[in-house]
Amino acid sequence: MIAKENARRRAFGSALATCCLLVFAGDAAYGCAANFSQISGPANVTNIRLRSVSAGASACHSCTANAGNAWNSACAGRANPEFQTAGSGADLTVDVEYRGGNNDGSEPGCSSSKCGCTKLGITGGRISSARVIVWESAAAGQTNCSSSYQGIITHELGHVQGLKDAPACQNRIMGNATGSAAIRSQECDRIDGNFLTLDERFPNDPDNHPCRNPAA
Ligand SMILES: [Zn+2]
Repeated sequence: MIAKENARRRAFGSALATCCLLVFAGDAAYGCAANFSQISGPANVTNIRLRSVSAGASACHSCTANAGNAWNSACAGRANPEFQTAGSGADLTVDVEYRGGNNDGSEPGCSSSKCGCTKLGITGGRISSARVIVWESAAAGQTNCSSSYQGIITHELGHVQGLKDAPACQNRIMGNATGSAAIRSQECDRIDGNFLTLDERFPNDPDNHPCRNPAA
């Protein structure tokens, strides 16, 4: 009887270990988020307008829009920046440049043989400008990027919002080179922590617009 009870306890203990291992595996993935932040202060950006620009390759306007919408819907309910592709009144305009050929490393500040690159201007710890470049292919003779524009741009827009690459975090948007992974709540929380949007700066202002000032 005692042996049977011990066996039952052992079985329970091992079930618990499996359970907690899973929980800790989740925590380990969450721990990746510690690497996400790359800007040091609030960005004061509420609306980010995305423009698709042809630069030797035809621009995929829907890829740009869908990438922005992926962040808008994944991070809905937070005071995160809102991406838009039309209209005026944006605090920051980001060009998404569709560049022909392969990424030969000649673009300053961009690593060669990658499908995408984000160039950020940071002034006083705040994002003051950003430009996204996507190439048709990462290396000569390949056509591996143009079929994944949307996912690549989604990843690059994580950089626009101040997130770093997180190569250890597979299946996460910042941990996957092609950006095919999902955006999860931790990425949204991290951005929320980085950015001070107008809603947060002026919580009692019903429409924010009279206070809108990108330089503030
Ligand atoms: Zn990246």
